[in-house]
Amino acid sequence: MPARKPPSQSKSNCIFCDLVQGSAEVSMCYEDDVALAFMDIQPVNPGHVLVIPRDHYETLQDIPRAVGWHLFQVTTRLIPVIQKIAGAEDMNLIVNSGPAAGQNVFHYHIHLIPRTKGDGFDVPLPFPGSEMPNRHLLDAMAVRIGSALRMDPTRETPASGVRVVNPADRMAATVTVAAPKAKAGAKPKAPPKKR
Ligand code: 5GP
Ligand code: ZN
Repeated sequence: MPARKPPSQSKSNCIFCDLVQGSAEVSMCYEDDVALAFMDIQPVNPGHVLVIPRDHYETLQDIPRAVGWHLFQVTTRLIPVIQKIAGAEDMNLIVNSGPAAGQNVFHYHIHLIPRTKGDGFDVPLPFPGSEMPNRHLLDAMAVRIGSALRMDPTRETPASGVRVVNPADRMAATVTVAAPKAKAGAKPKAPPKKR
């Protein structure tokens, strides 16, 4: 059975909702109608920021897609700025979604963690305790996920230019790139001769 979140962390008793409402101290670095970003009170490194929705959603599963998309856009906007200000070489984006995944504050948030070599932090991937499954197991899992995705009634139509193919054909989703336009005055290429 999956671990359940502690009942004390509901909307009415949420530290991040308090920050949104201005009833607790916070160092805010970005705000709009949907999202906020502020400094983590216990940063991994200087410049550790949390991006959150203004409204209270607990985990990834609760986030409406449009809100999730907006949070990701805010995140990608902040990344180069934080890296520059913090003098960091790189960045980890982390979402702990649900108690089993290590979430402690049950108001959805994205960690933006600036990284420099030798800073002592680690996200140990590949997981040292993992054994490499054989290709059949990987393929079987890929097919199951792909099939479930195609049967999902809530799925959206792929964006234009994105072609989703059957994973059973052992191909990943591919992005089709438009062919470059022919230069003005250039002769059109003759189609290949049939043999
Ligand atoms: P989680 O473990 O849920 O992914 O991360 C929660 C994060 O929220 C932690 O990194 C923690 O330092 C941060 N945090 C917890 N309480 C507060 C708070 O009152 N203010 C701020 N700014 N950050 C907090
Ligand atoms: Zn909240």
